[in-house]
Amino acid sequence: MSAATLNDVFKPALEGHYAIAGLVVLGWEDARLYVEAADETGLPIILHAGPACRRHTPVQILGKMFRHLAEQSRVPIVCHIDHAKTYEECAAALDAGFTSLMIDGSALPYDENVALTRRVVELARPHGLSVEGEIGAVGYSGGAASSLTDADEAGRFARDTGVDALAVSVGNLHLQTEHAAIINRDLLSRIEAVTTIPLVIHGGSGVDPAVRRQLSKETRVKKFNIGTELRQEFGRSLRAHLAAHPTEFDRIKILTGTVDPMRHLAAKIIRNLGP
Ligand SMILES: [Zn+2]
Repeated sequence: MSAATLNDVFKPALEGHYAIAGLVVLGWEDARLYVEAADETGLPIILHAGPACRRHTPVQILGKMFRHLAEQSRVPIVCHIDHAKTYEECAAALDAGFTSLMIDGSALPYDENVALTRRVVELARPHGLSVEGEIGAVGYSGGAASSLTDADEAGRFARDTGVDALAVSVGNLHLQTEHAAIINRDLLSRIEAVTTIPLVIHGGSGVDPAVRRQLSKETRVKKFNIGTELRQEFGRSLRAHLAAHPTEFDRIKILTGTVDPMRHLAAKIIRNLGP
Protein backbone atom coordinates (compact mmCIF):
# COMPACT_ATOMS: atom_id res chain seq x y z
CA MET A 1 0.00 0.00 0.00
CA SER A 2 1.22 3.55 -0.56
CA ALA A 3 1.72 6.21 2.08
CA ALA A 4 -1.45 7.89 3.36
CA THR A 5 -2.35 11.30 4.81
CA LEU A 6 -4.17 12.16 8.03
CA ASN A 7 -7.34 12.82 6.02
CA ASP A 8 -7.18 9.33 4.48
CA VAL A 9 -7.11 7.63 7.88
CA PHE A 10 -9.31 10.08 9.81
CA LYS A 11 -12.29 9.84 7.47
CA PRO A 12 -13.07 6.17 8.28
CA ALA A 13 -12.08 6.77 11.93
CA LEU A 14 -14.64 9.59 12.21
CA GLU A 15 -17.33 7.44 10.60
CA GLY A 16 -16.45 4.39 12.67
CA HIS A 17 -15.93 6.19 15.99
CA TYR A 18 -12.37 5.10 16.63
CA ALA A 19 -8.90 6.71 16.68
CA ILE A 20 -5.46 6.11 15.18
CA ALA A 21 -2.19 5.60 17.02
CA GLY A 22 0.56 8.11 16.27
CA LEU A 23 3.68 6.14 17.20
CA VAL A 24 6.95 7.90 17.98
CA VAL A 25 9.82 6.47 15.93
CA LEU A 26 13.46 6.72 17.00
CA GLY A 27 15.05 4.41 14.44
CA TRP A 28 14.71 1.61 11.94
CA GLU A 29 13.96 -1.15 14.45
CA ASP A 30 10.95 0.55 16.02
CA ALA A 31 9.60 1.96 12.72
CA ARG A 32 9.63 -1.52 11.22
CA LEU A 33 8.02 -3.23 14.20
CA TYR A 34 5.28 -0.56 14.39
CA VAL A 35 4.36 -1.28 10.78
CA GLU A 36 4.44 -5.02 11.49
CA ALA A 37 2.09 -4.37 14.43
CA ALA A 38 -0.21 -2.34 12.17
CA ASP A 39 -0.24 -5.16 9.61
CA GLU A 40 -1.00 -7.66 12.36
CA THR A 41 -4.00 -5.61 13.56
CA GLY A 42 -5.18 -4.61 10.06
CA LEU A 43 -5.40 -0.98 11.24
CA PRO A 44 -3.62 2.13 9.95
CA ILE A 45 -0.99 3.99 11.99
CA ILE A 46 0.81 7.31 11.86
CA LEU A 47 4.60 7.00 12.01
CA HIS A 48 6.04 10.03 13.79
CA ALA A 49 9.48 11.50 13.17
CA GLY A 50 9.85 13.96 16.02
CA PRO A 51 12.64 16.42 16.82
CA ALA A 52 14.82 13.86 18.69
CA CYS A 53 14.52 11.38 15.82
CA ARG A 54 15.43 14.09 13.27
CA ARG A 55 18.46 15.16 15.30
CA HIS A 56 19.62 11.52 15.31
CA THR A 57 18.94 10.66 11.66
CA PRO A 58 18.73 13.04 8.67
CA VAL A 59 15.15 13.73 7.59
CA GLN A 60 16.00 12.61 4.03
CA ILE A 61 16.80 9.11 5.31
CA LEU A 62 13.71 9.03 7.55
CA GLY A 63 11.50 10.01 4.61
CA LYS A 64 12.81 7.16 2.46
CA MET A 65 12.57 4.73 5.36
CA PHE A 66 8.96 5.65 6.20
CA ARG A 67 7.89 5.55 2.55
CA HIS A 68 9.55 2.17 2.04
CA LEU A 69 7.74 0.75 5.07
CA ALA A 70 4.44 2.28 3.91
CA GLU A 71 4.82 0.70 0.48
CA GLN A 72 5.47 -2.75 1.99
CA SER A 73 2.51 -2.53 4.37
CA ARG A 74 -1.01 -3.85 3.68
CA VAL A 75 -2.60 -1.01 5.73
CA PRO A 76 -2.42 2.80 5.29
CA ILE A 77 0.68 4.29 6.94
CA VAL A 78 0.92 8.07 7.43
CA CYS A 79 4.49 9.39 7.22
CA HIS A 80 4.29 12.31 9.64
CA ILE A 81 6.72 14.97 10.88
CA ASP A 82 6.05 15.82 14.52
CA HIS A 83 6.71 19.24 16.11
CA ALA A 84 8.34 21.05 13.21
CA LYS A 85 8.93 24.59 14.45
CA THR A 86 9.74 26.30 11.14
CA TYR A 87 8.48 26.53 7.56
CA GLU A 88 11.92 25.39 6.39
CA GLU A 89 11.70 22.15 8.40
CA CYS A 90 8.33 21.46 6.77
CA ALA A 91 9.67 22.17 3.28
CA ALA A 92 12.58 19.77 3.90
CA ALA A 93 10.14 17.10 5.13
CA LEU A 94 7.98 17.55 2.02
CA ASP A 95 11.05 17.11 -0.19
CA ALA A 96 12.04 14.03 1.82
CA GLY A 97 8.76 12.25 1.01
CA PHE A 98 6.71 12.81 4.18
CA THR A 99 2.94 12.81 3.61
CA SER A 100 1.94 14.78 6.69
CA LEU A 101 3.35 17.76 8.60
CA MET A 102 2.87 19.03 12.10
CA ILE A 103 3.76 22.69 12.44
CA ASP A 104 3.99 23.63 16.10
CA GLY A 105 3.54 27.36 16.54
CA SER A 106 2.00 26.89 19.99
CA ALA A 107 4.69 28.96 21.73
CA LEU A 108 4.02 31.95 19.42
CA PRO A 109 1.42 34.69 19.91
CA TYR A 110 -1.91 33.75 18.25
CA ASP A 111 -1.44 35.84 15.07
CA GLU A 112 2.09 34.54 14.49
CA ASN A 113 0.97 30.94 15.07
CA VAL A 114 -1.82 31.46 12.50
CA ALA A 115 0.53 33.06 9.96
CA LEU A 116 3.16 30.31 10.24
CA THR A 117 0.59 27.50 10.20
CA ARG A 118 -1.24 28.98 7.21
CA ARG A 119 2.03 29.23 5.27
CA VAL A 120 2.65 25.54 5.92
CA VAL A 121 -0.92 24.67 4.83
CA GLU A 122 -0.28 26.61 1.59
CA LEU A 123 2.99 24.70 1.13
CA ALA A 124 1.33 21.32 1.74
CA ARG A 125 -1.94 21.69 -0.22
CA PRO A 126 -0.65 21.53 -3.81
CA HIS A 127 1.21 18.33 -2.90
CA GLY A 128 -1.77 16.74 -1.15
CA LEU A 129 -0.09 16.58 2.27
CA SER A 130 -2.04 16.92 5.51
CA VAL A 131 -1.16 19.48 8.19
CA GLU A 132 -1.61 19.38 11.96
CA GLY A 133 -1.40 22.60 13.98
CA GLU A 134 -1.40 23.24 17.72
CA ILE A 135 -3.36 25.77 19.74
CA GLY A 136 -2.84 26.15 23.46
CA ALA A 137 0.38 24.45 24.48
CA VAL A 138 0.96 20.89 25.67
CA GLY A 139 3.72 21.07 28.27
CA TYR A 140 6.37 18.55 29.29
CA SER A 141 6.56 16.49 32.47
CA GLY A 142 9.40 18.09 34.44
CA GLY A 143 9.69 20.88 31.83
CA ALA A 144 7.64 23.63 30.18
CA ALA A 145 4.18 24.15 31.67
CA SER A 146 0.99 23.61 29.68
CA SER A 147 -1.34 26.36 28.58
CA LEU A 148 -4.86 24.99 28.18
CA THR A 149 -6.52 25.48 24.80
CA ASP A 150 -9.11 28.24 24.72
CA ALA A 151 -12.16 26.78 22.96
CA ASP A 152 -13.11 29.92 21.01
CA GLU A 153 -9.52 30.43 19.93
CA ALA A 154 -9.39 26.80 18.73
CA GLY A 155 -12.43 27.42 16.52
CA ARG A 156 -10.93 30.58 15.07
CA PHE A 157 -7.54 28.89 14.58
CA ALA A 158 -9.08 26.03 12.62
CA ARG A 159 -10.91 28.49 10.34
CA ASP A 160 -7.99 30.91 9.99
CA THR A 161 -5.41 28.25 9.08
CA GLY A 162 -7.29 25.47 7.25
CA VAL A 163 -5.41 22.74 9.13
CA ASP A 164 -6.56 19.12 8.84
CA ALA A 165 -6.02 18.27 12.50
CA LEU A 166 -5.66 20.25 15.67
CA ALA A 167 -3.48 19.37 18.65
CA VAL A 168 -5.13 20.56 21.84
CA SER A 169 -4.08 21.01 25.44
CA VAL A 170 -6.87 19.61 27.63
CA GLY A 171 -4.96 18.13 30.57
CA ASN A 172 -2.54 16.04 28.51
CA LEU A 173 1.21 16.38 29.10
CA HIS A 174 4.27 15.10 27.18
CA LEU A 175 6.70 12.54 28.65
CA GLN A 176 4.54 11.26 31.50
CA THR A 177 5.78 7.86 32.71
CA GLU A 178 2.50 7.04 34.51
CA HIS A 179 -1.10 7.26 33.27
CA ALA A 180 -1.55 10.40 35.36
CA ALA A 181 -3.27 12.85 32.99
CA ILE A 182 -6.81 13.96 33.77
CA ILE A 183 -8.51 14.97 30.54
CA ASN A 184 -10.87 17.93 30.84
CA ARG A 185 -13.95 16.54 29.07
CA ASP A 186 -15.85 19.79 29.49
CA LEU A 187 -13.14 21.76 27.67
CA LEU A 188 -12.93 19.07 25.01
CA SER A 189 -16.71 19.32 24.46
CA ARG A 190 -16.49 23.10 24.18
CA ILE A 191 -13.73 22.75 21.55
CA GLU A 192 -15.82 20.18 19.67
CA ALA A 193 -18.73 22.61 19.67
CA VAL A 194 -16.78 25.26 17.73
CA THR A 195 -14.91 23.19 15.13
CA THR A 196 -15.52 19.99 13.21
CA ILE A 197 -11.90 19.08 12.51
CA PRO A 198 -10.29 16.01 14.09
CA LEU A 199 -8.41 16.65 17.33
CA VAL A 200 -5.08 15.26 18.48
CA ILE A 201 -3.90 14.40 21.99
CA HIS A 202 -0.13 14.68 22.39
CA GLY A 203 1.34 12.97 25.45
CA GLY A 204 -0.98 9.99 24.94
CA SER A 205 1.21 7.77 27.16
CA GLY A 206 0.04 9.77 30.17
CA VAL A 207 -3.62 8.98 29.44
CA ASP A 208 -5.01 5.73 30.86
CA PRO A 209 -5.70 3.24 28.03
CA ALA A 210 -9.35 2.90 29.15
CA VAL A 211 -9.75 6.69 28.87
CA ARG A 212 -8.04 6.69 25.45
CA ARG A 213 -10.53 4.09 24.26
CA GLN A 214 -13.47 6.02 25.65
CA LEU A 215 -12.30 9.28 24.03
CA SER A 216 -11.72 7.48 20.72
CA LYS A 217 -15.32 6.29 20.71
CA GLU A 218 -17.07 9.32 22.15
CA THR A 219 -15.13 12.35 20.89
CA ARG A 220 -13.45 13.74 17.78
CA VAL A 221 -9.98 12.97 19.18
CA LYS A 222 -8.77 10.88 16.25
CA LYS A 223 -5.05 10.61 17.06
CA PHE A 224 -3.19 9.83 20.24
CA ASN A 225 0.57 10.35 20.12
CA ILE A 226 2.29 7.55 22.01
CA GLY A 227 6.03 7.61 22.66
CA THR A 228 7.05 7.31 26.31
CA GLU A 229 5.07 4.11 26.90
CA LEU A 230 6.87 2.39 24.03
CA ARG A 231 10.28 3.75 25.01
CA GLN A 232 9.73 2.42 28.54
CA GLU A 233 9.07 -1.02 27.04
CA PHE A 234 12.25 -0.66 24.97
CA GLY A 235 14.30 0.06 28.12
CA ARG A 236 12.70 -2.79 30.07
CA SER A 237 13.11 -5.39 27.34
CA LEU A 238 16.65 -4.28 26.50
CA ARG A 239 17.74 -4.60 30.14
CA ALA A 240 16.10 -8.02 30.42
CA HIS A 241 17.74 -9.19 27.21
CA LEU A 242 21.19 -7.99 28.29
CA ALA A 243 20.81 -9.64 31.69
CA ALA A 244 19.86 -12.92 30.02
CA HIS A 245 22.68 -12.67 27.45
CA PRO A 246 25.61 -11.14 29.37
CA THR A 247 28.25 -11.90 26.73
CA GLU A 248 26.31 -10.70 23.67
CA PHE A 249 27.97 -7.73 21.96
CA ASP A 250 26.45 -7.52 18.49
CA ARG A 251 24.19 -4.49 18.03
CA ILE A 252 21.65 -6.26 15.83
CA LYS A 253 21.41 -9.29 18.12
CA ILE A 254 21.09 -7.11 21.23
CA LEU A 255 18.30 -5.00 19.73
CA THR A 256 16.47 -8.12 18.57
CA GLY A 257 15.57 -8.70 22.21
CA THR A 258 13.38 -5.59 22.19
CA VAL A 259 11.42 -6.32 19.02
CA ASP A 260 8.80 -8.86 20.17
CA PRO A 261 7.87 -7.06 23.41
CA MET A 262 7.60 -3.71 21.63
CA ARG A 263 5.61 -5.12 18.72
CA HIS A 264 3.24 -6.78 21.17
CA LEU A 265 2.72 -3.48 23.05
CA ALA A 266 2.35 -1.46 19.84
CA ALA A 267 -0.34 -3.86 18.57
CA LYS A 268 -2.15 -3.59 21.92
CA ILE A 269 -2.08 0.24 21.72
CA ILE A 270 -3.32 0.25 18.10
CA ARG A 271 -6.16 -2.22 18.85
CA ASN A 272 -7.24 -0.35 21.97
CA LEU A 273 -7.88 2.82 19.94
CA GLY A 274 -9.32 0.90 16.99
CA PRO A 275 -12.90 -0.06 16.09
ZN1 LIG B 1 3.86 16.41 21.04
